[in-house]
Amino acid sequence: MKINLAKSAGFCFGVKRALELAQKASHRHKRLCVWGEIVHNQEVMQRLGQAGIKKINRLKPNPGTILILPAHGVALNIIEQAKQCGYRIIDATCPMVKQIHKIVRDADRKDYPIIIIGDKRHTEVKGIKGQIKNKALIIENEKDIPFKKIKRLKRVCVVAQSTQNLETVLKILDILKLYIKEIKFFNTVCQPTRIKQTEIRKMPLENEVMIIIGSKNSANTRRLYEISKSLNKKSFWVSAKEEVKPAWFKGIKKVGVTAGASTPQSTIEEIIQSIKNVQ
Ligand code: SF4
Repeated sequence: MKINLAKSAGFCFGVKRALELAQKASHRHKRLCVWGEIVHNQEVMQRLGQAGIKKINRLKPNPGTILILPAHGVALNIIEQAKQCGYRIIDATCPMVKQIHKIVRDADRKDYPIIIIGDKRHTEVKGIKGQIKNKALIIENEKDIPFKKIKRLKRVCVVAQSTQNLETVLKILDILKLYIKEIKFFNTVCQPTRIKQTEIRKMPLENEVMIIIGSKNSANTRRLYEISKSLNKKSFWVSAKEEVKPAWFKGIKKVGVTAGASTPQSTIEEIIQSIKNVQ
């Protein structure tokens, strides 16, 4: 059985950068915490916990403690509250996400209503939405377009969550163009996501089975899985080696493997080894 690993499998530069910042901080400071999950991966979060970095979801007065902001960013009010509580901030927000924040703030200043194409409950989308006081409209997919509201808009600024499926984003945009006269569209699907999505549109057609590795709360891994599954029914999403099932590989000659942007190399290697052990 041949195992083909995607070139782009695993950490993107934004995740690497965030983890390096956290690691450096853990060497320099004693009281550290991170807002939510620095990246959406359980193994990574466990390792940070072992390095003394606690995950918090609430702010309370804590002068001098370091607060690391996650790679997918936070709303402005979190930063303001954290400062009021005395936290010192290390901003590990990915530069690509920061760019989306800036676009949204600038457009809002120029009175453009904002549309975000993304997952309503994802922390990155909450962070983007939380850059402005005005309400942003969030659209998850083509079925979710609120036509009544859309028809009332004359102009709009549209951005996408960095890990969205680019095809879906462009389809939604085409529909919006039918109703809104002036659209300022910023293609904010990040480069690492685009590379991963280009690969995942080929690999399921070239391999009999596809294994997609990543935590179940990782949005970009879910997207890879969804694209893969739409092209090859034998696509399986696993987060740990224990989830690999020998039955998937019966009589199979070619297996494709990819991994989300927050999946550590060690997890990828362990899972590849467990696939090899099946043979
Ligand atoms: S997926 Fe893209 S936006 Fe998110 S951390 Fe990685 S490079 Fe940054």
